[in-house]
Amino acid sequence: MRALYLANRRVTLQHLPEPQPSPGEARIRVRLTGICDTDLHLKAGYMDFEGIPGHEFVGEVVESRHADLVGQRVVGEINAACGTCDFCRRGLGRHCPERTVLGIFGRAGTHAEYITLPDANLHVVPDTVADEEAVFTEPLAAACEVLEQVHIEPGMHVAVVGDGKLGILVARVLALTGCDLHVIGRHAHKLNLLARQGIATEHMSPGEESRLPARWADVVVECSGHPSGFETARRLLKPRGTLVLKSTYRESPSIYLAGLVVDEITVVGSRCGPFEPALRLLSRRLVRVTDLIDEQMGLSARCTGIRTRGTARSVENFARTATLSLPQEAINAAAEGSQGLAWGAAAVTMCPSVPRSPAIVSSPSPPTS
Ligand SMILES: [Zn+2]
Ligand SMILES: [Zn+2]
Repeated sequence: MRALYLANRRVTLQHLPEPQPSPGEARIRVRLTGICDTDLHLKAGYMDFEGIPGHEFVGEVVESRHADLVGQRVVGEINAACGTCDFCRRGLGRHCPERTVLGIFGRAGTHAEYITLPDANLHVVPDTVADEEAVFTEPLAAACEVLEQVHIEPGMHVAVVGDGKLGILVARVLALTGCDLHVIGRHAHKLNLLARQGIATEHMSPGEESRLPARWADVVVECSGHPSGFETARRLLKPRGTLVLKSTYRESPSIYLAGLVVDEITVVGSRCGPFEPALRLLSRRLVRVTDLIDEQMGLSARCTGIRTRGTARSVENFARTATLSLPQEAINAAAEGSQGLAWGAAAVTMCPSVPRSPAIVSSPSPPTS
């Protein structure tokens, strides 16, 4: 099968053996896979990962001991837990010390034609949810996790710091609570996606301070990915406020910890979330995701011609590395429409096998509502 392979901070397209499922696992043909910031961090050395990256996907089960799963369109939780340790027995499989993590730690990821995952990790996608929506289930679940951890009342002041894919999804989920929500970001075109749905946004350049009053927020969700986002979030919080930390900073931010003590701030680390609510939000059309996809294209010479779109530069770099090392046979195959890449300003989505003429999914500039 074809797969993107990451080693020594380089991504190449390779022909690799198809993965064989272990007992309790299903083999899944990937229909669509999203490139996430985490992939870019992995490429930069995060987790020392070598192998097939990718963890956001929608696919079709081709092999499983559960006959009712075979042929189903599924999404999958990324933590494959041991199922027997103390944490697993307490329902904390996401924190199992023996776990592997799809495309991140100890388990080949989804930027490939086939993957394996435990049957228990799979969730069948309702027919009403398109592939282009289902591929966002994993990050949308991560957004839902905030509501599992923090009780947000409609009267609360809530800020989201960061306007990447996760920040936008968190904002869209929190907006459903009716809270007084403000999103602070650095990218006008991404903030626009939220402003169009009536969410208050604020553009803040590096080095600037938010125009929101200090000590305004009851809850701040920090999704910026930049250590400076921590200070922005901290400044906005009321005493006894809650800082939900989504960013996994590559560098350690320098934090004035005594300030957290004096103001009695609660810091909540927040990572993966529940898939079923995320699928419900998608199927009921309560959270829109497809406007986060920019374009869908074949994994071919077309990829090398992709335009730099401001903030998508790092994403472009990821694929350009992959594309430049494409073997000629893969380029030929792609020309026949057997492979595709879809690309986003906030998310990049790739189809290991797309229909003959890959559709343009949407374009954020100019956005359509
Ligand atoms: Zn991700
Ligand atoms: Zn375990």
